Amino acid sequence: MATITNHMPTAELQALDAAHHIHPFSHQAELAEKGARVITRADGIYLTDSEGETILDGMAGLWCVNIGYGRKELADVAARQMTELPYYNSFFQTTHVPVIALSQRLADLAPGDLNHVFYAGSGSEANDTNIRMVRTYWAEKGKPTKTTIISRKNAYHGSTVGAASLGGMAGMHAQGGIPIPDIHHIDQPNWWAEGGDATPEDFGLERAQQLEQAILELGEDKVAAFIAEPVQGAGGVIVAPDSYWPEIQRICDKYEILLIADEVICGFGRTGNWFGSQTLGIRPDIMTVAKGLSSGYMPIGASIVSDEIAEVIGNCEFNHGYTYSGHPVACAVALENLRLLEEEGIVDRAGREIAPYLKEKWEGLLDHPLVGEAKIVGLMGSVALTPDKASRAAFASDPGTIGYICRDRCFANNLVMRHVGDRMIICPPLVITKAEVDLLIERARKSLDETLEKATADGLM
Ligand code: PMP
Repeated sequence: MATITNHMPTAELQALDAAHHIHPFSHQAELAEKGARVITRADGIYLTDSEGETILDGMAGLWCVNIGYGRKELADVAARQMTELPYYNSFFQTTHVPVIALSQRLADLAPGDLNHVFYAGSGSEANDTNIRMVRTYWAEKGKPTKTTIISRKNAYHGSTVGAASLGGMAGMHAQGGIPIPDIHHIDQPNWWAEGGDATPEDFGLERAQQLEQAILELGEDKVAAFIAEPVQGAGGVIVAPDSYWPEIQRICDKYEILLIADEVICGFGRTGNWFGSQTLGIRPDIMTVAKGLSSGYMPIGASIVSDEIAEVIGNCEFNHGYTYSGHPVACAVALENLRLLEEEGIVDRAGREIAPYLKEKWEGLLDHPLVGEAKIVGLMGSVALTPDKASRAAFASDPGTIGYICRDRCFANNLVMRHVGDRMIICPPLVITKAEVDLLIERARKSLDETLEKATADGLM
């Protein structure tokens, strides 16, 4: 059998891909028909495909390549660690230097008294850990009935059975027998789509107060935790009104409900600070992290927990762990990634220089006839497409039809920008420069123009 390489014709690679590879979150038959774009290399914020096209990656892969592509330092550290100690676990009274060093570093970086780390191979696994950890915590504290976790509709917390149950994606709940019991979903703070005539401030308060109502209805003695992304990512980069988070924090404090901030996207500089909780002024008891922790160079996730939780859990044997919990190569790469993000001032510059510049340019898209709302926090942003800005109307076509056209136009114009329904979203690597922001916006605007043209020609407007 011939060796499969980057140098094979694209069509052949696509045919082989379709023959044997099942893609996540994809309609296999449709994709096979079309052929997946074959990505061969990447450097900085740019991808190269098998046709030699250079594509600006406005999504940092899957919201994860914070440091940008092609950092040799990370490859060198991985090679060194693989040579020295490619694998060992910490289940049975052993440990190793990379996991010790990374844990100390994370305790240092994380806010408040979040000083203890339980590792996983991904964000989904870390959220599964959280489900079992908060229930075990309450059981150990003599309150075993506190098992219910409150989450939000249209939240994304991962794809494992537990994490997808925490998530509030209707399309996911429709498949595979989830959610698991004792997960309760309240409405999301998405003012554009669901705010009606309320002001954003009133709406934010109302949505936060649903948490209090849920606690009262379920019973304080039944609720273990509330989980939320500081800024909803996969739900469409939904930024809650300013009134929302202070009210959520007040309610969690009042009823002694553990607050889990899912920082899988928001962590490691994405929102302009090291963690989204800092940007939004919340004090979580647990933070879920992954993605930017290693900038996607190695699979790794973690739950970073408070002194109090670690102490309580520490009084029992927590029967939980993954073969790759604290994987030495992943830890070593993550540690080097964090070093570079800090020492090269990448997080700092993204927050202080690039975020305000990108915000101005991104909000400039509001003058486009299709753009009704432009939201951005740090380096994650979204625009809502609409046929009528004043009434915040949805399109007559099926939700996502226009967004899909726009996503396709972006891809054709060598920009990766994702659509969630009819919202377009960006999340570029933190190393993006101002000139590259200009290029991103130029391509986004061109793609919006072409979307309007096509939607009009197809009678969709
Ligand atoms: N939480 C959030 C907020 C996420 O965005 C994601 C992934 N997009 C996850 C959890 C799941 O992470 P993973 O894909 O690494 O399992």
